[in-house]
Amino acid sequence: MLELALVDFDDTLVETAPAFQEAREALFRRLEEEGFSREEAEEVHYREVEPELLAVFGMGPFRMEPSFRDTYLRLCARRGIPPRMEVAAACGALGREFLGHPRVMEGSLEALARLASRFPTVLYSQASHREYQLGRIRDAGVLDILPESRVRITPYKTLEAFLEVLGDFGVSDPAAAVMIGNSLRSDINPALLAGAQAVLVEPYEMWEYDRVPPVSPRFLRFPSFPVAVEHLLKNGVAPLS
Ligand SMILES: [Mg+2]
Repeated sequence: MLELALVDFDDTLVETAPAFQEAREALFRRLEEEGFSREEAEEVHYREVEPELLAVFGMGPFRMEPSFRDTYLRLCARRGIPPRMEVAAACGALGREFLGHPRVMEGSLEALARLASRFPTVLYSQASHREYQLGRIRDAGVLDILPESRVRITPYKTLEAFLEVLGDFGVSDPAAAVMIGNSLRSDINPALLAGAQAVLVEPYEMWEYDRVPPVSPRFLRFPSFPVAVEHLLKNGVAPLS
């Protein structure tokens, strides 16, 4: 018997990664205009700048402005050329306020409502800035379906954070809970490590950071959240053996 369904927000109910990617594309085009190849810009951005700034700023959009500016500054430093401040500012601007209003994926809110009408359901989201993320969750319309008391926002979706949510909602046997989300790293693996059930949704290619090996093959995969919910309502959550 399923006692709790935990549902991820970004890239499960709303499109987030594509907006990040569009902003990066704009950055790489701008850097090409400055004479930096796509290859070297990607290497500096993804391998050097992003890991450092993720560690400082945590998950969310706030690192993007400094990250975009730093990518330009480091490319200049590599070449030994002086950076132009107007270009640094232009790159930073591309990383500011690019997210806008959350883009709700088709059918995802209706599916969330169907799931919540059948099973106790919690929105379980990862973000470094709680109030900002809660605002996005509200803007997306999720709070019209779930009360704020059923929203949990954690800076990192670790095993400990997952177990804490189960505890908050009185789930003593993790196997009675299911996590539905788009990230192997943040949604699937912590749930599997806890002994809970896990359902991966893959509406588009997974962000490189999220793509880690699963700790076990005992989880289900669906192309979208609504398809996953249809399956759960019809067949329950017993994982493939
Ligand atoms: Mg997600």
